[in-house]
Parts: sequence; C-alpha cells; structure tokens
Amino acid sequence: MKIEIIKCLKDNFSYLLIDEFNRNAVVIDPSEAKPVINKLETLNLKLKFIMNTHHHYDHVGGNKELKRLYNAKVIGFDQDKHRIPEIDILVKNDEIWKDGIFEAKVFHIPGHTLGHVCFYFFKENALFSGDTLFSLGCGRVFEGTNEEMFNSLQLIKSLPLNTEIYCGHEYTLKNSDFCLKHDSSNKRLISKIETVKNQLAKGRPTIPSTLEEELQTNIFLRSKNVENFSKLRDLKDNF
Ligand code: ZN
Ligand code: FE
Repeated sequence: MKIEIIKCLKDNFSYLLIDEFNRNAVVIDPSEAKPVINKLETLNLKLKFIMNTHHHYDHVGGNKELKRLYNAKVIGFDQDKHRIPEIDILVKNDEIWKDGIFEAKVFHIPGHTLGHVCFYFFKENALFSGDTLFSLGCGRVFEGTNEEMFNSLQLIKSLPLNTEIYCGHEYTLKNSDFCLKHDSSNKRLISKIETVKNQLAKGRPTIPSTLEEELQTNIFLRSKNVENFSKLRDLKDNF
C-alpha cells in the first residue's frame, strides 16, 4: 500500500491509499473533491472508498462529488451516521475493516468531536489521526471533555513507537511556538523545529511524524494526567 499526501483547502491534508497492483485507491478525509480527482487522474487510479475521521466540513467536503463520480463507498463511525454525508459503511470501535490489501483497525477517540475515530493501518504501521493528534499538538476539544481527549491520546500512545502519524492539518510550525514556550529546553523539540522549517521551505509537508517523535516533542502527549492536560489545553486555546 502506497500513501500519497494531498494538500487541500488552506492547511488540510487528505490522504490517498493506493493498491498499486489493482490501481485502486481509498481516500481519507477528502476536504474537497478537486485535488483528489486530479491526483486520481494523474496516477490513473479508481477510487473505491472514502473514509472519514469525523464529520467536520473540512474532512467530508468532497464526499458527495467523489462518491457520485467514482461510485465509491463512504465509511464512517456508526454513532456518527446522522452527520457523515453519504455514509454507506458503518464501522464500530475496535472493528477491523478490510477490503483487498486495505486493512485498518478503527478506534473511537472522542474529544475533538464525540464521534471522532482514527484508522490504524496496522500492516503498514500508519495512523490517520484526523483532528485528534497533530504533530506538536492536538485538536481543540469541541464536543467532548478534556478527560475524553486525554484518554484518546493515551490510546494512541499505546501503539508501536514507529507508528507513522498522518494528521488532518499542516499545523506543525504553528504548534511548535506553544511547545517551545512551555518546554524550552527540550533538545529534540528544537531539532524537530529545524527539520520542520526546512521541509516547509522546500514546499514539503511536515507529515508524517512518528509516535516516538511526538512522545519526545509534543507537549500534549507528554502531559501525565488530565489536570495537566486540561491546563495546557486551556492555555493553548488562548495562546
Ligand atoms: Zn475537525
Ligand atoms: Fe479539521
């Protein structure tokens, strides 16, 4: 399975998962249809599935058009079926969804929204974390509680250290200011920021990160309890 990163809207990432032998593809969180269609056409691929981590417009905006064009099936969390547009396949927490070479475990990780899920492609060790875990940050807690968000991050922390993190937005450099302010002597963080700046200067995404890297540098993953996490989340919301 090959992974292609597609930049969408202002700072969103959609991801194309590719079965190179059969020329099939899955798209994760298509913010908009156009850039996804362009990539599918350039690479001569047929879109089979659309997977959504959560219902926000910048993650599902392309569902309808892509479904209509390719007759693709939309996959989303069963408890969010009322607000994932065009949903066809309902997946549950802890379920393994499989089709051909594509195989992912679904985890319910509430906090940013109540029905947020992530998709863990365990054969490739790739996690699509949506707006829950970002590189050097985490999503705002819109619908859930800080405790739910903290527990969702704890679940992600239990995955293998070499798990590659593919998140929903290019927020890494922006996030680094907050991490640096509260963790200014962290050498790993300082060197990651250098790498991030270099990537961006070359017009490249700062994604994927790895879980190991995030554990060393992401202040939200490093917080040890809900109280500490909540304090950081409040500070960041007003940063
Ligand atoms: Zn969101
Ligand atoms: Fe988003």
